Amino acid sequence: MPPALPTSANPQREKSAPQRAMEKLGLARDIDLALHLPLRYEDETRVISIAEAPDGEPVQVEGVVSESRIDLRGRRQLLVRIADASDALLLRFLNFYPSHQKTLAVGARVRVRGEARNGFFGREMVHPVFKAVDEQTPLASALTPVYPTSAQLPQAYLRKAVAAALARVPLDELLPPGSVPPGLPTLREALQRLHHPPAGEPLAALEDRSHPAWQRLKFEELLAQQLSQLTAQRERQRLRAPLLRAAPGGLHEQLLAALPFQLTAAQRRVGEQIAGDLARPAAGATDPANQAEPASDASLASTAGEANDCELAAVPMHRLLQGDVGSGKTVVAALAAAVAIDAGWQCALMAPTELLAEQHFRKLVQWLEPLLAARGQSIAWLTGSRKGKARQAMVERVASGEAALVVGTHAVIQHDVHFKRLALAVIDEQHRFGVAQRLALRRKLVDQSGSATAPAQIEPHLLMMTATPIPRTLAMTYYADLDVSTIDELPPGRTPVLTKLFADERRAEVVARIADEVARGRQVYWVCPLIEESEHIDLQNATETHARLAAALPGLTVGLLHGRMPAAEKSAVMALFAGGQMAVLVATTVIEVGVDVPNASLMVIEHAERFGLSQLHQLRGRVGRGAAASVCVLLFQGPLSPTGRDRLRAMTETSDGFEIARRDLEIRGPGEFMGARQSGDALLRFADLAEDAPLLQRARAAAPGLLAQHPAAARAHVARWLDTRAEFLKA
Ligand code: ADP
Ligand code: MG
Repeated sequence: MPPALPTSANPQREKSAPQRAMEKLGLARDIDLALHLPLRYEDETRVISIAEAPDGEPVQVEGVVSESRIDLRGRRQLLVRIADASDALLLRFLNFYPSHQKTLAVGARVRVRGEARNGFFGREMVHPVFKAVDEQTPLASALTPVYPTSAQLPQAYLRKAVAAALARVPLDELLPPGSVPPGLPTLREALQRLHHPPAGEPLAALEDRSHPAWQRLKFEELLAQQLSQLTAQRERQRLRAPLLRAAPGGLHEQLLAALPFQLTAAQRRVGEQIAGDLARPAAGATDPANQAEPASDASLASTAGEANDCELAAVPMHRLLQGDVGSGKTVVAALAAAVAIDAGWQCALMAPTELLAEQHFRKLVQWLEPLLAARGQSIAWLTGSRKGKARQAMVERVASGEAALVVGTHAVIQHDVHFKRLALAVIDEQHRFGVAQRLALRRKLVDQSGSATAPAQIEPHLLMMTATPIPRTLAMTYYADLDVSTIDELPPGRTPVLTKLFADERRAEVVARIADEVARGRQVYWVCPLIEESEHIDLQNATETHARLAAALPGLTVGLLHGRMPAAEKSAVMALFAGGQMAVLVATTVIEVGVDVPNASLMVIEHAERFGLSQLHQLRGRVGRGAAASVCVLLFQGPLSPTGRDRLRAMTETSDGFEIARRDLEIRGPGEFMGARQSGDALLRFADLAEDAPLLQRARAAAPGLLAQHPAAARAHVARWLDTRAEFLKA
């Protein structure tokens, strides 16, 4: 006998399909359901006469069935005529069951909801919602919510689940009177109203989210965000980082002297802001500079292993350095690293991809390696592709402290990597790291900065860099917890990039232009789009484009670079292009950030209409890095959508990253703008930073007082609102 097939788990315990669908939508707890708000409403609170029903607007009418028949001419359909005192109405069903005919039998009184139109047989409604009623059947007292849902989750099921959760969920008022803007309802009232607005509630205000119930919800959310950031900031202020100051004649000065250029005024200014952070003494801590005896001389040897208490006297830096592509953020980071290294500490520089990490590595090696070598120190290079013995050797150098600077991808923070004395972590292109990665990064940095020989409580200074600027006002209010520095000036001698739009039909002209450019000794990027859902089709596209270009440009070296290539191959291609041996580089968006080849003066972006505005801007930043006049050609395939047109036009009109960010905000809306694309989760669900700036201001103003006078309420509020997200908001 064959063995019995294993039965699935106890069916009693198994979740129903709608339950599973609900969980998929993130609707697990009562509070999740209570915060799952309607997309729109249906008004079943009123019945109007058939004669009054306006054309094409959802209405509810009531009448008695006078005729019901199946029409077999053409498509089989059920035709039902109803009438009230004012007029008659034909109901038309293309799909129907016997139950339809039963309920809609001649003589039955029915209430129907739908859109009336003038049809061939007079007024009619196609596929209305209907139910049998009698003269006493009451009307709904509230508008009927229509929730966002999925195919497996019927609207009716979800409605019941939400109503039940709303009745159960504890929504006691947590905020003391006075902390909420006047005139707003309590949270319970607000949610009750949003889920079940009473008859006569102004629908427009509900839908455009200006209704006081919406305002309350948004305020709550913004307040939670401000409170959590403020708390994180205070916690950080209790932590200690090494107090670092550039020593006269030290590494910082040496590096400055070794640079082949002068810093721009903006670089100097943000450099000073960072220096201020690194040397900001914590209240109550002793500033080593004021000690009778100097804390240490600057060499690693004399301080090896022991960070004495007075060294750990600074508040950890938590700064975002934003600056347009090409504005020179790397050197600012390198200068900060020099200060830390000079004081006998280690510094980590992390980039989101191997390619980027290598770009940094090359520059930093060029600048720093000779200086470090003279001190018996080195730079370690840690990426995913570095394995085995080579990796082991690097890891050992990090652990011993010989590697003063550690450059790489997140391989830098893998479990076997232990810093001897990590004082500064620089995260480049931080917007490219996902939310979860950013969190893990920070946690690991803190964990690993304390090794066996260093005190466990060191919190490294954190410098995040981004070329996707957040509009200034937004950054200031929203990132309560982050100090923001901005490089708002490009190094001199750059000629602005000229941006041109070309319809795809003019591709041949563009290819001819490439040949010209190369004949002048310049190099060219050709960027192919990458759509996440179909990576391999894109790869195929990139490969084909590469083959076609190579054929069209005989005698030129045309290379190909894409994300699926082995790392070694990628860096080989990149090295050829950077070294000038390769004239044209066909690439997917792997080159989006950080690639630096000043001799490249033409960039062609194929299917530019498929890219986001900030992405186009990032890409364009790869050219115009040298003194030669550079051109960016946006090849597009029409017809363009209105937003597609806006994006491409913005690209031709401005090259200022802040202006681009502002327009991006305008075109896309801030919800999507703030990192949603990169991370998959938007920061705010209800509030809209552009529209709700006044509420944000109020939340910002209310947070400190609330934290000081009602700490328990503040904590409870944050827990209710952010729960799993709180961690992220701190990061
Ligand atoms: P990003 O801000 O995009 O990271 P980088 O740091 O890569 O910019 O700098 C872009 C290029 O400009 C690099 O080649 C860098 O060496 C150069 N650079 C940086 N600062 C200056 C300066 N003050 N003057 C001239 N060139 C500079
Ligand atoms: Mg950079």
